[in-house]
Amino acid sequence: MLKKWIKLRRICNYCKCKRLFKQAKQEMKLYRLISSEDPTKLFVGGLHGKEGAYTAPILERLANEAVYTGKAIIVPSLVKKSKYVDVLSEEYYRSKEGMKLLRLIEKYKPYFYFELHAYGESSYSKLTDPEREKRIGVPPFVDFGDGILLGSIAPFLRGKFSENDFCVTIEVPNWQSENEKVRAEVLLILRLALSKAKREEVMTELRMRYPAQIKKAEELFRQYYRNKLKPF
Ligand SMILES: [Zn+2]
Repeated sequence: MLKKWIKLRRICNYCKCKRLFKQAKQEMKLYRLISSEDPTKLFVGGLHGKEGAYTAPILERLANEAVYTGKAIIVPSLVKKSKYVDVLSEEYYRSKEGMKLLRLIEKYKPYFYFELHAYGESSYSKLTDPEREKRIGVPPFVDFGDGILLGSIAPFLRGKFSENDFCVTIEVPNWQSENEKVRAEVLLILRLALSKAKREEVMTELRMRYPAQIKKAEELFRQYYRNKLKPF
């Protein structure tokens, strides 16, 4: 079991006796699927706030997949519940969960890095706003259908990866997260990343399945990084 129980001696509020309380240590679940040393892939969900409740069921399913290549590390929810700090802000990477994320990246040095978030319906227009770059300095996400949004990761974090790494953010519409069609579609994208060994193999499949969306997402990425990096 990954969840460890630690015993704590605390004062009971009722009778002031010293009792042993069992407390669940705030440990995150982490799955390792290993078929070979390379490439290393990291899938992380639930980075802040309460979004882990929506990302965990999807990533738990991914962790039970039978087909995978390389070494996949899957964290269904980095944090169960935390204050919401935007991953675009550097402040996030100074928070407990942000530092945990940086440690995971430093430890595993993934070649594929997939971040799974969940957003509320009222954020849709902000996340997909064509003027998002003018407004907050990062390109908008592209809707891959049913409100499933795809884009790159926070520029600050992208800087921690090498040029050739493959870094993707998927935003799950939280009001649709129980919708089997939406879950299946998100899983389809994640499964591609889990099963393929090379970025180009994933991109080829994505281009076939979502031609217009991938074209748009690649265009936005290239404009933003001025061709210095390969999408994504
Ligand atoms: Zn998020």
